Amino acid sequence: MRDYELIRSKRKTIAIQAKDGKLIVRAPMRATKKEIEATLARFDPQIQKMLAKNIALAEQRAAFSLNYGDSVLYRGKKYPIVARSGNRVGFDDARKEFYLPPNLPPERIKAGVVQIYKMLAKRHLSERLLHFQPVMGVAVTDFHITNAKGRWGSLSGKKSVNFSWRLIMAGDDIIDVVVVHELAHIKQFNHSDKFWAEVEKIIPDWREREKRLKDFNHRINAQNWDVDWETAAKEESAMFTGDNLAFRWHFAVYKTILSSKNGMNIYRGCLHGCIYCDSRSACYQMNHDFEDIEVKRNAPQILDDQLRRRRLPCMIGTGSMCDPYIPLDDKILYTRQCLEVIEKHGFGVTVLTKSVRVLRDLDVLKRINEKAKAVVQMTLTTYDENLCRVLEPNVSTTAERFHALEVFRDNGISTVVWLCPILPFINDTEENLRGILDYCIRAKVTAIMDFGFGVTLREGDREYFYKKLDGHFPGIKQKYIGAFGNAHSCSSPKEKRLTEIFTETCNRYGIIHGSNKVFAYLNKFPDKSGQMSLFDMEDYLNGGEY
Ligand code: SF4
Repeated sequence: MRDYELIRSKRKTIAIQAKDGKLIVRAPMRATKKEIEATLARFDPQIQKMLAKNIALAEQRAAFSLNYGDSVLYRGKKYPIVARSGNRVGFDDARKEFYLPPNLPPERIKAGVVQIYKMLAKRHLSERLLHFQPVMGVAVTDFHITNAKGRWGSLSGKKSVNFSWRLIMAGDDIIDVVVVHELAHIKQFNHSDKFWAEVEKIIPDWREREKRLKDFNHRINAQNWDVDWETAAKEESAMFTGDNLAFRWHFAVYKTILSSKNGMNIYRGCLHGCIYCDSRSACYQMNHDFEDIEVKRNAPQILDDQLRRRRLPCMIGTGSMCDPYIPLDDKILYTRQCLEVIEKHGFGVTVLTKSVRVLRDLDVLKRINEKAKAVVQMTLTTYDENLCRVLEPNVSTTAERFHALEVFRDNGISTVVWLCPILPFINDTEENLRGILDYCIRAKVTAIMDFGFGVTLREGDREYFYKKLDGHFPGIKQKYIGAFGNAHSCSSPKEKRLTEIFTETCNRYGIIHGSNKVFAYLNKFPDKSGQMSLFDMEDYLNGGEY
């Protein structure tokens, strides 16, 4: 008789399994040894085959190892692993290669590749979730990447979805069917006909794809991707710093979205990468990476609920701390949905952004403007397009923003330009100021918001800014340290002259200026009901744009 491990349980039948080359028998509590061994004898030919297959698989898994030059799967295609100096790991989208520090042993290479897979899985699967959720009319509450080996995905009772990082090795067709499968469970919890009908609405060939998923499962099972993270973490520099961090997001639960001053930030965090961004400051207590966007879950519904309870309409402001038109918004459309809620309740809105993505919502902004009031505000810091790409690398350039201002003007929506920050020793030139003012005059902006000519620096923001100065403007950091030390407010040495030019130009062209007057203009709700509403200017003064 063969050796076997016996596991008794409340089950009703005898089950025979092969694991790591060993035979495992699961039997009911009352099954006798004689009955168990009779079953083993009866199925001996099948058991022999099963064991042989399992031993071959165990050998394959034991032989699996990775080295530089090997290729590994990513979204169904193979890409090489290369050594690159430094201590970073990542996937180079341009060169199409996995890169790791040099001279690592195979186990550490595997750990590094798994780390890259996790980052890539988070990035790609979050994109697919954002794509399929509106299409299927469902929404998850949270999303995690797990180490699960036996399950590609799972959904909790609270609609939080998990995916195994291993899924990122599969082709896009397989990844999508797993994502849709989990999302369909939000509507149908079991695997009934109704459930598969939901899947079929989105993926008509789901049967073929599920078969391919099974084949893929066998392939991946033959590779031992297990990493002993505990041991790896004990080794010095075993854990790497990861690249490819773009486009990360997570949901956070909020009960309200409007501040006491009627300001609203749908997102916390931003991908626009402005080197001077004040929202990175420690005082805002973001307990997540700035690039890992916190999305206020159900923001439009929460806003709807809050506005419904209001007796009088007023102006709602958005964008003071984090830009509402980050790339993620194109997928999730929360900003547009919030504008629609504002329109529905007859409130007014002021939107502050650096992205021409705001043009996407021109129609709804026009409707708000017809019923109440809509103002589009754009920040302009430099008229030099090349400098703009350095200061604000991931968002529309100044020329693009200027064209957006013209579109809003032509559609009867008033516009305000935020002339800040003016960075001492960088963009605090007369030429730059005149260039921006020229854009403002041509775009016929209603007002220009200014806070003097300088920049504010605080803990968190200052470190990031200085790091970027070292990268782009060698020697300027030292000038800042010498001139301002740890001061919060860093004014340009040319402030007096710049203020003269600014004031003279605004007066000549009838442009509202001076922060108090501009805030008063922004906060004034049109007097259709004899009411006027002000939301506190501090909302803006404390915001992320300065
Ligand atoms: S300044 Fe505004 S747009 Fe730029 S990174 Fe910060 S929040 Fe984003």
